Amino acid sequence: MTAPSSTTAEVAAERLCAACQHLWTTHDDISARFCAATIVNTYSRGCVCVPGATTGTTDAAN
Ligand SMILES: [Zn+2]
Ligand SMILES: [Zn+2]
Repeated sequence: MTAPSSTTAEVAAERLCAACQHLWTTHDDISARFCAATIVNTYSRGCVCVPGATTGTTDAAN
């Protein structure tokens, strides 16, 4: 099974976080600021999104 390559339109519609690739809707105030700083400073660090934060795809990893 090939992973579907996300189209630009779909990505824009889903508003994925550029830092952690999670949906922005899964970010609370803290994680949104955390990721915003990550993007600005181009850190490569994890994120503080809630566990189970989704990228919009329904891959059932554990
Ligand atoms: Zn993020
Ligand atoms: Zn995240």
